[in-house]
Amino acid sequence: MSEQKKQKQHSMHLNALQQFDPEAYQWIIKEQERQMHGIELIPSENLVSQSVLEAMGTVLSNKYSEGYPSKRYYGGNEFIDEIENLAIERAKKLFDAKHANVQPLSGSPANMAAFFAALEPGDKFFGLKLTEGGHLTHGHPVNFSGKLFNAVQYTLNPKTELLDYDAIQKLAEKEKPKLILSGYTAYPRAIDFKRFREICDSVGAVCMADIAHIAGLCAAGVHENPVPYFDIVTTTTHKTLRGPRGAVIFCTEEWKEKIDKAVFPGLQGGPHEHITAAKAVAFKEALQPSFKEYAQQIVKNAKAMAEELMQNGLRLVSGGTDYYLMLVDTMKSKNLPGKEAEQALEKAGIYCNRNTIPFDTRKPWDPSGIRIGTPAITTRGMKESEMKEIARFIVKALDHAKDDSELKKIKAGVQEFCKEFAFYD
Ligand SMILES: *Cc1c(COP(=O)(O)O)cnc(C)c1O
Repeated sequence: MSEQKKQKQHSMHLNALQQFDPEAYQWIIKEQERQMHGIELIPSENLVSQSVLEAMGTVLSNKYSEGYPSKRYYGGNEFIDEIENLAIERAKKLFDAKHANVQPLSGSPANMAAFFAALEPGDKFFGLKLTEGGHLTHGHPVNFSGKLFNAVQYTLNPKTELLDYDAIQKLAEKEKPKLILSGYTAYPRAIDFKRFREICDSVGAVCMADIAHIAGLCAAGVHENPVPYFDIVTTTTHKTLRGPRGAVIFCTEEWKEKIDKAVFPGLQGGPHEHITAAKAVAFKEALQPSFKEYAQQIVKNAKAMAEELMQNGLRLVSGGTDYYLMLVDTMKSKNLPGKEAEQALEKAGIYCNRNTIPFDTRKPWDPSGIRIGTPAITTRGMKESEMKEIARFIVKALDHAKDDSELKKIKAGVQEFCKEFAFYD
């Protein structure tokens, strides 16, 4: 996009900010440029639309609205109620849900509220181990989830690097957890939610999923959507769902009251209604037919990238991807620890995060691999042929990980490549 257009957009939206606080302004602009000049492969990130951005920057931020629509502890909420109801109704339609609480501030607090609704301190629940793809809030010992509750961590099958449903069933029969959590943060394959429902039913456990990463794919019907038949489902709104930073909790009629009470007054005070408005906008976007195409393209792109990476000798955990995310074993492929791989790619203008691979012998701070995904670059309009090109940039950067001048050259190529795919102008 032209410089002229860029300035027009900024002057429209950040005029007062630029004048009053040029220092803060400049870093905001620099960050926008970084996002536009680089290749964003962090699978938990995305680019929101101008409409979502605009909704976040509104006077709704000024309002206190503790409580729920029509049951507020503050006056002056007639329009806020309309906004929150709009978000709730759209969320329910999008995920075929009986109930939606749109107030959780982010994914971690949403999980905390869900646990508070379903468990007492000390109760036993199942989550996938962090180093094998689970989230911190799924029972890691440093997190509230591992400190307050008796978290039993299930693992993957070491041979296939996949979920082992029979082993989870056996473990559930032995441990009798009160709740079983599925849904992950670094798992490249489809999740058999129906099987999880069966396992939960067989031992009388609450059936919960955290679809933070794959919510957009579930909403679009690209990945199985567990919401209609799970007890409780949490999700962030800012990953594949492409909304503002925030979260939603879905549940059945049976859990409705407990979930709402756990969010407020159990955990949070005033909801962020400017973000609720942006959630409503994002849900409207996700209800459009174009969102389905977007979700399908995420998957096509991931498969194209995976194929090219593997052809170039990189080992992907589980031998590829089903959807949007890949774990690259940089240690085995290039004898490169994940941290060095992440840093080399950053020097080349390609952003990813280092990540443990299943049964990693290295620590999370400096693990054996990196995690990459296609949601953000798909939002920018990139397709399969661009994926092949990006894969080649990645391989080249990893091959020259210790050569700063070569990485600089790759970065120049990356910047040139990105020009065609400006998103914010
Ligand atoms: C990202 C993520 C979260 C946490 O979301 P935050 O908004 O960062 O608190 C929770 N669960 C899973 C599976 C995630 O991937």
